[in-house]
Amino acid sequence: MENNTRKIVLVGTGFVGMSFAYALLNQNACDELVLIDIDKKRAMGEAMDLNHGLAFSGSHMKIYAGDYDDCSDADIVAICAGVAQKPGETRIDLLKRNAEVFRSIVGPVMNSGFAGVFLIATNPVDIMTHVTQKLSGMDYHRVIGTGTTLDTARLRYMLGDYFSVDPRNIHAYVMGEHGDSEFVPWSQALVATKPVLTHCAETGGKFCCTEMERISEEVKNAAQKIIEAKKATYYGIGMAMVRIVRAIFGNENSILTVSAMLNGEYGQHNVYAGVPSVVNRNGVREIVQLSLNSEELSRLHDSCELLRGVFKGIEL
Ligand code: NAD
Repeated sequence: MENNTRKIVLVGTGFVGMSFAYALLNQNACDELVLIDIDKKRAMGEAMDLNHGLAFSGSHMKIYAGDYDDCSDADIVAICAGVAQKPGETRIDLLKRNAEVFRSIVGPVMNSGFAGVFLIATNPVDIMTHVTQKLSGMDYHRVIGTGTTLDTARLRYMLGDYFSVDPRNIHAYVMGEHGDSEFVPWSQALVATKPVLTHCAETGGKFCCTEMERISEEVKNAAQKIIEAKKATYYGIGMAMVRIVRAIFGNENSILTVSAMLNGEYGQHNVYAGVPSVVNRNGVREIVQLSLNSEELSRLHDSCELLRGVFKGIEL
């Protein structure tokens, strides 16, 4: 990231990709945005549409439909491309098809000479991030996924609502797979600097611990509920991606629950999962190891074990 222009190449201009692009534009979060999609006409149309909004924004972003050569001097390549599940198709078959999609993307990105940070949103995001790292051969610190950043934002929003406290003053994380095996380590959840569980105990039943379990279930099922109502989720993830991008471009060292490669942390190896990580200009600087209790460690282990098994199954 040597030049002064903040350049992003976005691959996959569907709902998620374009929500990300729209949020980038509105938050003036980069200087140059290149759109790539297998459907070139779509990428071109999306670039035109965004450009026509420039006059109403405070941004001078350069936006255009491009190709993989444009990755050579990009700071970030964000991948939101993917194929949808066919009727009757198994999860692993879908994964294999998405791995092929990624093969057609990551190869040309690397051939361009790209040396920035990969940011992956395509689901199952922990697996697709690992696939990207494997296919690219890039230092794993520079290959990150959106992980449980959106789930964590949902958790903070719901806890803030429950306690009537600004979500920015709630410190709590969703960890593990972005999916069914994710969990909330409640021993590490704080309102201001006070543990949530202590807060519950001290308020004489007004704020109840069993409600915390209900909230973590609601966080887990949120995507499904949105999909049932409107077929897909995209605004929240688009904004989560911009948050990660800001941490990268601003060299912020912000702690976000991105999908990062665990290499001994929490006793886990060779697996990408959502864990609090310090994010800066070079991607993930390090993973923060929270003092999880034994039950929480075992839930993280189960989640990682599941992800390792799935990754093995796709035989890259
Ligand atoms: P979509 O179908 O609207 O968009 C996918 C895009 O990928 C399409 O424009 C398609 O043309 C493009 N594409 C397919 N194959 C390609 C290839 N080989 N090269 C380049 N482009 C290609 O889907 P969407 O709603 O935008 O979702 C995208 C992905 O994001 C899905 O995998 C979805 O599950 C995931 N998602 C992740 C999160 C998260 O928290 N990480 C949240 C919501 C959605």
